[in-house]
Amino acid sequence: MAVKITEDCIACNACEAECPNIAIYDAGVPWSLGGEEKEALSDEFTYVVPDKCTECVGFYDEPQCIPACPTEAIIMDPDNVETKEQLEAKKDHLDEVGRE
Ligand code: SF4
Repeated sequence: MAVKITEDCIACNACEAECPNIAIYDAGVPWSLGGEEKEALSDEFTYVVPDKCTECVGFYDEPQCIPACPTEAIIMDPDNVETKEQLEAKKDHLDEVGRE
């Protein structure tokens, strides 16, 4: 399961620095993976890229962005449920292609 950022976000960007997968982007900023740039997922809020979020699996025991958020705007995303094995495979893929 990836995490997602809700409309409670105040765009302070405290979470961005905590993400080991470079999965969090400012509103309107294109995201990238393996050197390929993609369209921003939100023009309104700081956003998380589900293809890059591993819930911090492979780095930490818990998602690092959730406690970093002063407005509790980051929650687990029920629309992106994944097993630990899937999250580990995603982390391996990111290791392989590069996170930027
Ligand atoms: Fe990044 Fe971890 Fe937050 Fe996912 S849970 S966006 S990998 S800090």
